Formats: sequence, C-alpha cells, structure tokens
Amino acid sequence: VVYSPEEGWHDAKIEPYHAFQMDPAGMVLHYGQTIFEGLKAYRCKDGKIRLFRPEQNFMRMNRSAERLCIPQIDVDFMVDALKKLVELEQDWVPSTPGTSLYIRPTIIASDPHLGVRASNHYIFYIILSPVGAYYATGLDPVPIYVEDNYVRAVRGGTGAAKTAANYAASLLAGEEAKKLGYSQVLWLDGVEKKYVEEVGSMNIFFRFNDEVTTPALVGSILPGITRMSVLQLAQDMGYKTTERRISIEEVFDRYDKGELLEVFGTGTAAVISPVGELKWKDRVIKIGDGTTGELSQKLYDTLTGIQYGELPDNHGWITIL
Ligand code: PMP
Repeated sequence: VVYSPEEGWHDAKIEPYHAFQMDPAGMVLHYGQTIFEGLKAYRCKDGKIRLFRPEQNFMRMNRSAERLCIPQIDVDFMVDALKKLVELEQDWVPSTPGTSLYIRPTIIASDPHLGVRASNHYIFYIILSPVGAYYATGLDPVPIYVEDNYVRAVRGGTGAAKTAANYAASLLAGEEAKKLGYSQVLWLDGVEKKYVEEVGSMNIFFRFNDEVTTPALVGSILPGITRMSVLQLAQDMGYKTTERRISIEEVFDRYDKGELLEVFGTGTAAVISPVGELKWKDRVIKIGDGTTGELSQKLYDTLTGIQYGELPDNHGWITIL
C-alpha cells in the first residue's frame, strides 16, 4: 500500500516477495521515519490457522505512526488484508510444535528529500517469514545484564513507539553485554537510571511473593501485546497483578529478603522467557533454582495453548482464518 497526500493510502496489492527500488535520498534512509510491527500466525492441530490479537498490533502501529508523524491506517482494513495475505501464503505456516509464521508490517517514509521534515509519501508493506521455536527444548532461563551506562529511551522520546531508532540505539549495549556472557540487556529509565523499564525485545515481569508486577507504561516502554495478555492471564489465575514503578534497588532488596520468586520476559518472539540471572553493577543474583519457575511455565502453557487453539479463547483474542 502506498500513501500520497492526494490519494491517502491506496493501491493495496499482494505480490510475490521481491526487492524494490528506492531513491537514495528516500527520507527513511536519513531521518529514520519508519515504524513496524511483529505478530505471528499459528498452524493448529485442528488444521486451522490462527492470528493472536492482530487488531492490537495495528492499533499500536497507529500510536507509533502518530509519534513519528506518519498518517494513520485503517485497522479493520489491515486485519482483513493480513488475513487474505496469510491465507494465500498458508503453505508457509509451519506445523512443527512451537513454530509459526512471523509477520512484519512496516511503514517507511519515501519522499526523496534532503532536509528534516515529515515525508509526504509512504510505503507500507508486510513481509512473512516462517520461524522456528524460540526454545528448542523446554524453556531455558536466560542471564540478563542490567544496563547502567547507556539508555534506550527517555521520557518524551520515542520509547513507546515501535520505531527503528530505538533498536539502533540499543545495539552497542547489547553487544557489550553479549561479550560478558549475557543474552540481553535490561534497560533502566533514561532519567535517573533507577527504575526498571524493559528488555531488548521483551517486557519484564517480577513475581514478588504473590504480586505479579511489571513496569507501568510511562511513555518510554513499548506497550507489549504479550504484556497486556499476561497481566490478564495472571489475574485469571488468581494473582494480584500491578503495573507500577519498580526500582532496581527494590528488585535486589527483595531478592535478599527471599521475596523475589520469579523474573520473566514477555514478547511475541520470546513468548514467556524465564530470567535465571541478573547482573547489576558488581552484583549478580541467581533467581530460582536454575529451572523454569512455576508461574512462568503456567503462563507459557496457557498463552501458547490459546495461540495454538488448544485452550478456550475466553477473552476473544483469536482470529481464525
Ligand atoms: N519491548 C520491545 C522493545 C519489543 O521490541 C517487543 C517486541 N515487539 C516487546 C517489548 C514485546 O512486545 P509484544 O509482546 O507486543 O511482542
């Protein structure tokens, strides 16, 4: 689909995957005016293909669009278009357990122009790619590095939008953490470096006794669709769920008091990803006994059960093709 000021979004079409030409002065290439989404289609045992909350992804895309001065899209039109696209390409939805078809809607600014302003023309495309199971053999707790040098997002910035610059800004910290043996970075707030925000491509949850808590959406955190779903599922399971400011000191203090029972990340790719170790400055803590926590496992089983059509869809989250 392309956008022009005269015609709005128009010329929607489905075509075979191919490279496209772009003017070297295309505004996205200099000024990073681009947004994207990530969701999945699941092939289920009943032979049907399911999408998980696709309207939420396009609603979030519109919030990202607003922040990046990109024109709004019609959510119902996009969900319909996506259903048609996946139906047409259904042979690419893999069927081994844990696999899925990853869907990447993207909008880029296409005016050939030098000089900072919002583009007048845009290209919106969706690419599909089959993906394997994130965890080949069960859930594997990951070690995470609490970043206290670089920041990913500041209040009033673009942290709540799914835009390329956020990821570019996070690369160096990720590389440095990997060299130290950590798989991802846990970001602190960009003002005081005191409050926990999110992990590279996941939101973060803590279980302090029976409270299941995640950082409040203060404008610098991506409002994850898995996050939103996990809050609901944990509540359904009888946990007290909260969204609040969580300082990194609190995490370590409550670990010392024996009250930090589980830490896990949530995201479309990672689903539920248990965190087994946190390093912050010169302290390292090991959470749990090295295996997946009880709540993390339960949430994983429930969420994937709903996504793969094996559990009832009590909240109306599933779109069946
Ligand atoms: N935070 C960031 C920075 C991400 O890239 C993602 C993945 N989209 C998430 C959180 C998790 O969001 P979701 O549950 O919608 O995949």
